[in-house]
Amino acid sequence: MKTVIVGGVAGGMSAATRLRRLDPHAEIVVLERSGHVSYANCGLPYHLGGVIEDRATLLLQTPESLRARFGLDVRTRHEVVAIDPAAHTVTVVDLDAGEERTESYDHLVLSPGAAPFVPPVPGAARAHTLRNVEDLDHLVAAAGPDTRRAVVAGGGFIGLETAENLHRIGIDVTLVELADQVLAPLDAEMAALVHDELARNGIDLRLGAGVAEVHPDRVGLSDGTEVAADLVVFAIGVRPETSLARLAGLEVGPRGGIVVDDDLRTSAPGVYAVGDAVEKADPLDGGAALVPLANVANRQGRRVADVIAGRPGRARGAQSTAILSVFDLTVACTGWSERRATASGRAVAAIHTHPASHAGYYPGADAMALKLVVDRGTGAILGAQGVGRSGVDKRIDVIATAMAGGVDAAALADLELAYAPAYGSAKDPVNQLGYVAEGRLDGTAPAIGWDELGDTLTAGASLVDVRTAVEHDDGHIPGSINVPVDELRHRLDEIPPGPLVVYCAGGQRAHTAATYLAGIGRDVVNLDGGWATWRTSPACRHAADRPVATT
Ligand code: FAD
Repeated sequence: MKTVIVGGVAGGMSAATRLRRLDPHAEIVVLERSGHVSYANCGLPYHLGGVIEDRATLLLQTPESLRARFGLDVRTRHEVVAIDPAAHTVTVVDLDAGEERTESYDHLVLSPGAAPFVPPVPGAARAHTLRNVEDLDHLVAAAGPDTRRAVVAGGGFIGLETAENLHRIGIDVTLVELADQVLAPLDAEMAALVHDELARNGIDLRLGAGVAEVHPDRVGLSDGTEVAADLVVFAIGVRPETSLARLAGLEVGPRGGIVVDDDLRTSAPGVYAVGDAVEKADPLDGGAALVPLANVANRQGRRVADVIAGRPGRARGAQSTAILSVFDLTVACTGWSERRATASGRAVAAIHTHPASHAGYYPGADAMALKLVVDRGTGAILGAQGVGRSGVDKRIDVIATAMAGGVDAAALADLELAYAPAYGSAKDPVNQLGYVAEGRLDGTAPAIGWDELGDTLTAGASLVDVRTAVEHDDGHIPGSINVPVDELRHRLDEIPPGPLVVYCAGGQRAHTAATYLAGIGRDVVNLDGGWATWRTSPACRHAADRPVATT
């Protein structure tokens, strides 16, 4: 049996090598348009910045090494330009020889990836994109010693990584993002932490503006301003490469990706598709989703080989678990944001915590911000986000695993996670999210979100800051009175009558205060995430009377 694979990187090469392991006799041909296969696209930005010094380390395999180890027939600079599903053939152009050939197949696997979107603005041809090794080489050449200023358009994962790495080699970077925040999978109050980190590192962040025009020495933005730029990079998103599939009449879905079934079969017999080019099933609602991430492409590549080799398997959707570093921060997420969950009509409980990455008494602990998005009706975890200097990666991975295993939010409390002071806490931040979820869902620890505070106060509630006087003086929510939790019992006369909202730094002391106040008959709710969440939320930005400081 002969399998032809289009695209020799994440999905395509996973399929090829897995198929070889499953079938020593299969004829496997990999056709790759660019000059390289098995290159580390995820590492490309880091060579630009010199973190990965040796370009050769990005090239994980060559056609020769793949032939030697796996007996694969790998042809770079070979572009597939047409598929004839009825005849079971593809038309291939050898880009170096300029020759066109026909290649037959029994199974065809498409893994052509996704292409960077370049907006049709004047001068766009002058801008760079970053997708493959050739793009990287062009960008490295353009970012030479004479390049002082760069504009990176797009505050997504690749845009942020590119901006940071240009900055790393001494280039002044302006990051332009059309939305009012970077990193669309995050909610606003979590993305604000990333904005702070970018500012702290000298990145000029322009939100709410797009690149409207690219000139040789500057960029015109949609808000009418101009930014000097010797170098421009577009990283405003990727689109599934579906031209080949469309030409061959394969079904393309509403999100613009190739439609595949649970076994990654397209609408044409014998033709499969994987990776960035296909629509995936979102496990939360079964809807179609585009998830251009390497883990998903690799998993699908492996799975399609199993299907071709006749091995039974389980279809898994893609829940969009992602991570990146932004200077000293780790930013990670899985599943849906609160915004996405609310838009889909779910009643959501959003839980924010600000735990330490490991036991506070052990040196080197960092504070992190975690957010859990929970279905209020079922208690199911819909998503999670984390931002912090350390410890974020494992918490989000644990929650992603919990989601995949059907563990609900309250059950996070009972997960038995590895602990020693250097690594975590006996009550791990993931367990703590479970405690908060339990109290929130069973009504024993009611809380409101930063977005509900304004209306709650307008309706007559009073706001009590239960942190210390020093913390309060350092910065507080306008209109709050300060009665520290440890003084609450003998300063009750200072607590106004009527409903109360209590807050502290991150929610824990306020929980103690709220429990006490509720116990003596007061109508009280906690402010979810406390000061730490409120101060990064749009509510803080919009507060007419700004807090005295935002430490
Ligand atoms: P690709 O790996 O892109 O491979 C597709 C290949 O098909 C390309 O080499 C292309 O040249 C070839 N091709 C296309 N059409 C044809 C044709 N007609 N004929 C022959 N060949 C063709 N994901 C993460 O999860 N984490 C990260 O940190 C991360 N960082 C990234 C950084 C960058 C700069 C980029 C570009 C991507 C990053 N990704 C990351 C995304 C990840 O690389 C992709 O999700 C993954 O590579 C998709 O695999 P794929 O096989 O679908 O496509």
